[in-house]
Amino acid sequence: MAAPRLTIDQYFEGIKQTDTSVLSRGITLVESKSPKDRELAFELIKRVLPFTGKSIRIGITGSPGVGKSTFIDGFVEYLVNEKKIKTAVLAIDPSSKVSGGSILGDKTRMESIVGSHDVFIRPSPAGLELGGVGAATFETMLLCEAAGYELIIVETVGVGQSETVVNDLTDFLIFLTIAGAGDELQGIKRGIMETVDLVVVNKADTLEGKTFEKLRLNFKNALHLFPGKASGREVSVLSCSALQKIGFEKIWNEISAFEIVVKGNGHFENNRMHQKKLWLQKTLERSILEYIYQNEEIKNQKEYFEKLLSDQNVNPLEAASRVFNIFKSRFQ
Ligand code: GDP
Repeated sequence: MAAPRLTIDQYFEGIKQTDTSVLSRGITLVESKSPKDRELAFELIKRVLPFTGKSIRIGITGSPGVGKSTFIDGFVEYLVNEKKIKTAVLAIDPSSKVSGGSILGDKTRMESIVGSHDVFIRPSPAGLELGGVGAATFETMLLCEAAGYELIIVETVGVGQSETVVNDLTDFLIFLTIAGAGDELQGIKRGIMETVDLVVVNKADTLEGKTFEKLRLNFKNALHLFPGKASGREVSVLSCSALQKIGFEKIWNEISAFEIVVKGNGHFENNRMHQKKLWLQKTLERSILEYIYQNEEIKNQKEYFEKLLSDQNVNPLEAASRVFNIFKSRFQ
């Protein structure tokens, strides 16, 4: 059974004190669809807002098998232990390893930091459709920031829409790949090259001689097909071995250099404003949908037309339009 709701003060105080179990419950609250929870979530977000916005939000995407989980484990350990940066890891697809429980369940992973409040790992929001993921993940990031996390990593397996969501939510997008994946060619098609801020070729320990340099040039050529980035910073291609924990320093240096550039040229703020607008839009869409489906008359009409679908004379488009007219009539 789900744990009972806490009071606003309990959520707020717990989060401010980096109590990870309260933080988890706060996230469950912002993911909830129930109107009562939404009301409480709204209050909670208002309370935490003054304590948010200070983290760096990083997205990590890449095909299954390129080493995202291994990379995140190693990189987060490096950040927490070497750089003393409190880090939160969120996943947005149900298929991600974070949500599969392997990070939490497998004791050998991040063993030097698991259990410490310097790292927080949150599985993906099960049961939320992708449209809802954007708003809920944004609110989750805010709660993590209020809890003192200075860096937030959002992981996606990078299929379809989830990549756009992660790009819309973060300040810096890392595309993880490996030699032989053909991503330097396919990446163009999938639109990754336009959104990515850093390409990391993982499993460098398996690469021979000049393979990386060749791959780096191929990526650079592919990246040059696109106009300059709005960030004002060129996209680097770095190598790393997540398994042997080699290459993290260069990646962190790149993120730090990027942060200085984008905070200096206004891009950071522009991007954050873009994120806020999207949050408004997603929240509005979520509210409208909830309103529609909770309205008795609309609910009844929808059920009525669902029954009529078996009748050849009513097609789904017609039914949807008739139900929508009821909604529209309320605003005329
Ligand atoms: P994900 O599906 O992208 O999350 O990939 P995983 O992290 O599960 O890694 C897939 C496989 O690649 C696992 O067997 C890892 O041990 C292996 N792997 C990950 N990083 C490296 C690396 O840097 N070098 C080598 N040789 N193998 C790696």
